[in-house]
Amino acid sequence: MANTKNTSKTSISRVKLLRKESLTTDSYMEGIFDGDTTILGKAITLIESANPKHVEMARIIIDRCLSKKGNSIRIGITGVPGVGKSTFIEAFGKLLTSLGKKVAVLAVDPTSTFSKGSILGDKTRMQELAKDSNAYIRPSPAGQSLGGVGRKTRETIILCEAAGYDIILIETVGVGQSETLVHSMVDFFLLLKLAGAGDELQGIKRGIMEMADALVINKADEANVKQSQLAQKEFERALHLYPSKKSGWVPKVLLSSAINKEGIQEIWEMIEEYINLSQQNGYFKEKRHLQNKNWFIQTIDEHLKNEFYQNKEVKKSIKKMLQKIQLNKISPFNAAEELLETFKKRT
Ligand code: GDP
Repeated sequence: MANTKNTSKTSISRVKLLRKESLTTDSYMEGIFDGDTTILGKAITLIESANPKHVEMARIIIDRCLSKKGNSIRIGITGVPGVGKSTFIEAFGKLLTSLGKKVAVLAVDPTSTFSKGSILGDKTRMQELAKDSNAYIRPSPAGQSLGGVGRKTRETIILCEAAGYDIILIETVGVGQSETLVHSMVDFFLLLKLAGAGDELQGIKRGIMEMADALVINKADEANVKQSQLAQKEFERALHLYPSKKSGWVPKVLLSSAINKEGIQEIWEMIEEYINLSQQNGYFKEKRHLQNKNWFIQTIDEHLKNEFYQNKEVKKSIKKMLQKIQLNKISPFNAAEELLETFKKRT
């Protein structure tokens, strides 16, 4: 009890400091390592900020968080709106916290670029979990390009892990690109589906099926049970046709009724099975390593591209070049070479 009081006192004084904008990186680190969710939230806001001072501070914080080794598991969860993602995450998250785990729920929402509020990772959609002191829910960063959302989400994962969260759930909707993005930052990728009227494989993109480590047919309750079992068989057959995974894992198809909290424990046991297998055969580490490498290269790519397209000289010349290409005065390849030369010679 005394401990809790102390923590909340420290938390209040840290927040007071923060209001005066005098919170140092050390205070941030102390708060994050203490698992102080107010400070964690403020640190994530720093990550999401475009203010150069915040960007610099966030960079230091992320690096210092990276040094804290954890044993977290990152799980991606996707599915079309209405499939039951938030109901599932609530039931799944509550199961995990009942097992003594700390759970963070993040979201990658491609539509948040356009709409102000995000419908994913919304606390009102997961009220029970939001009240759980061992769970932390954070909506998708808004007003960003998908690439921007991806970077910020990855950095947020690092912060949450440093704050002691063992399981990171990353929610996204079934819109191709955002799924690929989430897949590139998780250890396990779960696709939620509904049983349809026979033609199960319709409307599902092959790429997403290939990415999934497991398919869960939700709403397998009441009048839906039989249909869900049929769908399970059909999906199992379909998954067998895909090339085997490098992880050595054979994707599974399970049933759940998120609303009745049925099938949830089995899903967790399956994920544990995957983690054990991939840790034993070395794939777990290899995948994380590969993901880091890809992010490193992607960040450089983005940076260089931005620098190129934001260059005044380039901006001016691009228009002229495009006109020349249109008039067949220069080939697209030569035009590109010329433009790159101009860029290289910039002062
Ligand atoms: P999301 O848009 O994917 O996050 O879906 P929601 O979790 O908001 O669920 C959409 C609707 O389906 C809500 O009315 C839920 O109560 C309902 N729902 C979610 N899971 C189940 C389930 O397992 N069985 C049934 N029958 N309904 C469910």
